[in-house]
Amino acid sequence: MTRIIYLNGQYIPETEGKVSVFDRGFLFSDSVYEVVSVLDRKLVDFEGHVQRLARSLSEIGIEGAPDAHAWLGICRELVSRNAFEEGMIYWQVTRGTPDDRDFVFPPTDMPPTVLAFTQSRTLVNNPVAERGLSVVTVPDLRWGRADIKTTQLLYASLMKNAAIGQGADDAWMERDGWITEGSAQNAHIINRDGVLITHPLNREILHGITRAAVLPLVVQRIEERPFSVSEAEQAAEAFVSSASGFVMPVVRINGYAIGDGKPGSATVQLRNAYIEWARRTAK
Ligand code: PLP
Repeated sequence: MTRIIYLNGQYIPETEGKVSVFDRGFLFSDSVYEVVSVLDRKLVDFEGHVQRLARSLSEIGIEGAPDAHAWLGICRELVSRNAFEEGMIYWQVTRGTPDDRDFVFPPTDMPPTVLAFTQSRTLVNNPVAERGLSVVTVPDLRWGRADIKTTQLLYASLMKNAAIGQGADDAWMERDGWITEGSAQNAHIINRDGVLITHPLNREILHGITRAAVLPLVVQRIEERPFSVSEAEQAAEAFVSSASGFVMPVVRINGYAIGDGKPGSATVQLRNAYIEWARRTAK
């Protein structure tokens, strides 16, 4: 079955989607995006994602994108047209398509390019959750506004591939020895005193929608503060959170086994609690 995507007001087969070579998303990564998960044909934490998209758009001054009501309609239409059960819906909004390449922004009344498509994935019964992830730390060399969800993802992609090249699954980024976040996930540890430590919300990390939903489900004490690479290597448990992975255990950091090298019990409980919450509140 050919995937039906949404592009600038139209639902079309994926092979028919065309965007200009002058699109600012293509030439300048001048665009923002969201990833919303779908369980049982319903959208998980739709409000959180639509609000963060609005914030990302306003931080870089892109106007004219669909509002919350329109996004809900687009997503539901894509779910229906693709008979979509489980996976993610990707949304992207670019600053549009001027008729030439120019650093200067086009007039704000130029319509943005708006794209959305489904990605079928097994999210709940993901086998990676059973075995856990192995990560290596790398310097965080991204720009200083990691809190805006832009499509400037080259560095994160390079680092993920470098981690895979070293035999790991993914990269955790660090600044001056302090972990900021994963390549596409927020990073968390539970130390040997049972305290959950997670980076505070500032410009160094993306303000994860999953992180925000997971923290109220945590029964442990929470400290929102940076943690060091060595604290992470010696943690009792570690995990990442993201819309596509939910809560995903981390069992190895820089070759050090975390706990007994298997997904930690508090992490497994939190994953189950999050999935229960996601199913109950999806719309
Ligand atoms: N941090 C980064 C750098 C990300 O790219 C993502 C998701 O793509 C996250 C954290 C997790 O955010 P969310 O839970 O909203 O998916």
